[in-house]
Amino acid sequence: MTGRWRRSALLVACTVAAACGGGASGTTAPGRDPATPTPTPAPAPSLDPTGWVSASDGTIPVVIVAPHGGDLSPSELPDRNCAGCVTLNDANTQALAEEIAAAFQRRIGRRPFVVINRLHRRKFDGNRELTEATGGFAQLTGMWEYWQANIDSARARAARTHARAILIDLHGHAHAIPRLELGYMLSASQLRLSDAQLLPLLPGTSITRLHQLKPMGDSGAALVRGPRALGSRLAALGLPSVPSDVTPAPLAGEDYFSGGYNTQRHGSASGGAVDAIQIECHNIGVRDTAANRTAFAEALVTALLGMLEDYYGWTPPA
Ligand SMILES: [Zn+2]
Repeated sequence: MTGRWRRSALLVACTVAAACGGGASGTTAPGRDPATPTPTPAPAPSLDPTGWVSASDGTIPVVIVAPHGGDLSPSELPDRNCAGCVTLNDANTQALAEEIAAAFQRRIGRRPFVVINRLHRRKFDGNRELTEATGGFAQLTGMWEYWQANIDSARARAARTHARAILIDLHGHAHAIPRLELGYMLSASQLRLSDAQLLPLLPGTSITRLHQLKPMGDSGAALVRGPRALGSRLAALGLPSVPSDVTPAPLAGEDYFSGGYNTQRHGSASGGAVDAIQIECHNIGVRDTAANRTAFAEALVTALLGMLEDYYGWTPPA
């Protein structure tokens, strides 16, 4: 049930690269016998990214993405060294993603789609646009395309077998306040607005589709901090979360991650049937030990199953 799939993104990238490097075929050097073709320069060593992405198939309308927990640092890849580049990993988030999948399996006998970047963040950032993700190392372009294509594929497959789906981009933060930070592409200052002021900002967020559909009558602020919102469900299970009904917004001066590249790209801001939420996890009590990862995974499964029923009309088949 958990077969891996391979994508052809690398082949596409290689084809494009070959085309860009073309034009020399059939030319001859001055003074050279026209019958003797100019030797073709040896191509740059190709990098095979298939071992750097772990993608497992699922059977429920949930996609879990872990871009910052990789543990591989191949010597052929330079360290990313670009202005503003973050190279520290989100510790244990690869294991956390796998534990969430295992918790679904234990609970309902079915797994979500899971896509994990296995490269360490000093080599590749799975939550950035191409240039920053690769640190400008052109030979990693194929990896970036392959990584994003695997997420695209998981989204498409989840939405093809279900009416709609939810994607969770899983991270770890080191902010001062130990609480989950849920990102919908709404900034902290936007979240501090009143519900009425927040309403017109929901189109363009990563849960635009939910806002349009108004499941159970919920739209606008209710989707991010009403009693049925994911943060409120997690808070009720003992996991402090922002935004939630308990903590509607970060206070001025408090650190907060509002959602990154993947949340923007793979949510429903531009349409489609897949919403996205970034979950930034604190460390102690959530991802620091195997026992805590299991406890968190169980709580998240409970919260997501409730959300899937209320907002996505999906319950596990008997
Ligand atoms: Zn991260």
